[in-house]
Amino acid sequence: MFETSALSISSSAYQNNIAFIKKRCGDGVRFCSVVKGNAYGHGLVPFVKMAYQNGVDYFAVYSSAEAFEIKNALPNADLIIMGMTDENSLNWAISNAVEFFIFDFEKLKLALKIASQLNKKAKIHIEVETGMNRTGFLISELTEVFNFIKQHSNFIELTGFATHYAGAESLVNDFRVREQINLFTEAQNLLLQSALKPKYIHSACSAAMMNYPETISNMVRIGIMQYGFWPNEETLIRYNGNSRENDGTLNRLMSWSSKVMTLKRIKKGDYVGYNTSFQAYADMTLAVIPVGYAYGYSRSLSNSGKVLIRGEEAPICGIVNMNALCVDVSHIDDVKINDDVILIGSQAGKTISVASFGNMSDQLNYELLTRLPYDIPRTILD
Ligand SMILES: *Cc1c(COP(=O)(O)O)cnc(C)c1O
Repeated sequence: MFETSALSISSSAYQNNIAFIKKRCGDGVRFCSVVKGNAYGHGLVPFVKMAYQNGVDYFAVYSSAEAFEIKNALPNADLIIMGMTDENSLNWAISNAVEFFIFDFEKLKLALKIASQLNKKAKIHIEVETGMNRTGFLISELTEVFNFIKQHSNFIELTGFATHYAGAESLVNDFRVREQINLFTEAQNLLLQSALKPKYIHSACSAAMMNYPETISNMVRIGIMQYGFWPNEETLIRYNGNSRENDGTLNRLMSWSSKVMTLKRIKKGDYVGYNTSFQAYADMTLAVIPVGYAYGYSRSLSNSGKVLIRGEEAPICGIVNMNALCVDVSHIDDVKINDDVILIGSQAGKTISVASFGNMSDQLNYELLTRLPYDIPRTILD
């Protein structure tokens, strides 16, 4: 291999996860796969191709650049851009029937201008501000928005009506999410009065689908759970009746592996790597792994992370370097140069999960996954 590590993505784990999600949502609910952030680190194009083969044909991204990549790979898939669009990208999106969120009047007017120039219909999703306070029209603006859309129905098609919840993963935010749900209901009443009939009403992300099933409506935008991760531990516990064990409801798609680059014998009392944070407690054998923080392996795992070699856990000794880390293999028999190293994933019945890899809780799976660099090769497995 030329690269120092490799990621593999399991298609059968994906099938398991989407079967669970679809069952959870029930019939008649469109599943939209959220693939921003390089498909949460899984590799945008390889991931969407695999998903498409498994019957998923609707994808949501944040940028037009991501939408462009998917369109080239899967010309027939439906796409939504949930974030940034400018004049150029709107031109491209409208020409190619790519859908996009609209959350202010400037963008609404720009979409109309471009659609009329192209003599095409812009397929828009109106996003409502219900309390996240990021993007979205205020409820008080909606009547004007609806009138505008009705006036310009030659060029604007209201494909979706949406909002996004701020913290549906935790009961701590329950009051805030309930307020959002109420406001979105109010917004839907205004929509009803306007007589506009979007194809999709959507608000549920993974956490809302699990913790507030009343938000499922006729479409869901699911990110983290399709990749086999719970939005946070609390959501797992609430579903799973107080157990923290992953009960096999979801399966992780990703494993990350490397190889032993070299071995090093050190004496009791020697220091390892930069500075003096690790001192050998005995004569030891270290394996050097060619992965560091430049590859998305967090420096915060210095002296605390673990990898798997020959089916055994090998703890990190010293600081995670930019391109390398050292692990203690003194207790593992017969370790050799080029032995497989599992950074995330399973070997001989033991598992390093992204969460324990980070030794952390809530929300941080998202960050660790998306930090995995674009240029590590992703291979799809059955
Ligand atoms: C990221 C995102 C989602 C998906 O969230 P998950 O928690 O990964 O399911 C849905 N909607 C919007 C607007 C998002 O930004």
